[in-house]
Amino acid sequence: MSKVETLATLSEVTATYNDAPALHKVDLDLPEGKIIAFCGPNGSGKSTALRVLRGLHSPVQGAVSVAGRHVSEWNPRDLAREVAMLSQSPQAPEDMTVYDLALLGRYSHRGRFAALTDTDRNAVDRALAATNMTGIATRTLGQLSGGQIQRAWIAMVLAQEAPHIFLDEPTNHLDIAHALDILDLVTRLNRENGHGFVIVLHDLNLAMRYADHVVLFDDGRIAGEGPTQDVLREEAIRTVFEIDCRIITLPDIDRPVIVPLKRCELSAICAAE
Ligand code: ADP
Ligand code: MG
Repeated sequence: MSKVETLATLSEVTATYNDAPALHKVDLDLPEGKIIAFCGPNGSGKSTALRVLRGLHSPVQGAVSVAGRHVSEWNPRDLAREVAMLSQSPQAPEDMTVYDLALLGRYSHRGRFAALTDTDRNAVDRALAATNMTGIATRTLGQLSGGQIQRAWIAMVLAQEAPHIFLDEPTNHLDIAHALDILDLVTRLNRENGHGFVIVLHDLNLAMRYADHVVLFDDGRIAGEGPTQDVLREEAIRTVFEIDCRIITLPDIDRPVIVPLKRCELSAICAAE
């Protein structure tokens, strides 16, 4: 596992799709070894930032470094061993088994035609156990619920055994119990094995509860970045999400709770600025 203080840096990064900007001159310094949440409204640039950091989308301007190297200096297979990523809407054939999907995670460790090693099998077994998928590993994806499919994809990512893991909306399609299971697993892997996570999370209360560090995106820019409770504040949530909320503390819970109240008037935001 690499020993660097900074997981990744974006310097003045602008990224576009067909000339339409998705990130505008973004500067970002992500700390190593933390659970980092990317939060922000739909279309604010979270997935694009993750794809740029993972070397899957090239910015038109600016510099990106990951795990101590400029992203363009990484051989793709080495970068895949360093940073595993689950994209927002991953696709796989319906007749693929859970086991075979998890095995795909070993791709970056194996030669193209190399036979499976015990190391590959053990990594897949660990990933299936961690996601509670061992008992249904022989089922095909077409035989699974949405939540089970999501867990199968997370098993695929864990099987890579990369020190850094990027998850784009991993709690999509999960009921609250399974969402908590996934984030408890993330916490365990972070605290016990030292994996660093960057996770796109829509639910601000899950970010408040699980993230060490939050990056708040707003229309392709960074509206806030830092320790979770410094970033997720009533004013920032009001400005970025255009909702009124209260952040309250409860006697028996260590993190505050965000209570959304109502969508606020745009004019009220302008008046407050
Ligand atoms: P988020 O993940 O925060 O919802 P994205 O990074 O996916 O936001 O999108 C940022 C902006 O880029 C949005 O305006 C979105 O419409 C646009 N965008 C994202 N992906 C594509 C794409 N493949 N082609 C064209 N535009 C895209
Ligand atoms: Mg997205």
